[in-house]
Amino acid sequence: MLIERIWPDNEGRNFHYLVACSQTGEALAVDPLDWELTLRTARERGWSITQILNTHEHLDHTGGNAGLVRATHARLLAHAGAASEIGGVDRGLTKGDVIRVGRTVELECLDTPGHTMTHICVLAHGDTPALFSGDTLFNAGAGNCHSGHPDRLYETFVSQLVRLPEATRLYPGHEYLARNLEFTLDREPDNSRAAAFLQEVRTAEPGKVPVTTLGLEKQINTFFRLQNPSVISRLRAAFPDLDEHPDTRTVFLRLRELRNRW
Ligand SMILES: [Zn+2]
Ligand SMILES: [Zn+2]
Repeated sequence: MLIERIWPDNEGRNFHYLVACSQTGEALAVDPLDWELTLRTARERGWSITQILNTHEHLDHTGGNAGLVRATHARLLAHAGAASEIGGVDRGLTKGDVIRVGRTVELECLDTPGHTMTHICVLAHGDTPALFSGDTLFNAGAGNCHSGHPDRLYETFVSQLVRLPEATRLYPGHEYLARNLEFTLDREPDNSRAAAFLQEVRTAEPGKVPVTTLGLEKQINTFFRLQNPSVISRLRAAFPDLDEHPDTRTVFLRLRELRNRW
């Protein structure tokens, strides 16, 4: 499986992806808002885009569909529940569906509500598992829930994301890494791994930040550190009504609330 991370350098700090079969050169484009750049990148690699996948219905993920379909006649794949809102969907996806690209790539569809209620992540299994996580899980952060529900996002985190293999490489829909690490350090000032990683990230070129793994996320992403004593004591300072031993759901929801206004 070949993965190309594309940085259009736009205001939304989007990432687009191409996932290609090394034998046939067929490629799947993930959330290709800047479809011309995505197409140009595929051509430079000698790949042909045969499928487009939207992780969810927001325009900053779907806005390139029409142009790319016109140019390539690729099939459009998205959550079955988001198909009518997105329009032009050729294949509506549900939990457990498998997406094949060429002869070598198989991606499993995960139903991951929270950021919106019709959001999918897709997982490539194998020696180097990879998760295309849209706006559900960011590097060192979690998606907002302005058009979804934080309670459902919590459930997606604890019942699905946290259980993925630690080696899973993470490919989110936007690049917010430094900002998210700053939030982690605001919540957990003694997190030395996050502090060291922030130094590294600050010297990286825009759009060339390191790809994290789920194992690293568990060390640097506050939304995976719901039982950490520093996180809880800082949270109790912000919310004096909080119990001494709050449950993980409460911690997640309060962190999400703080992040909204941080
Ligand atoms: Zn979104
Ligand atoms: Zn987005």
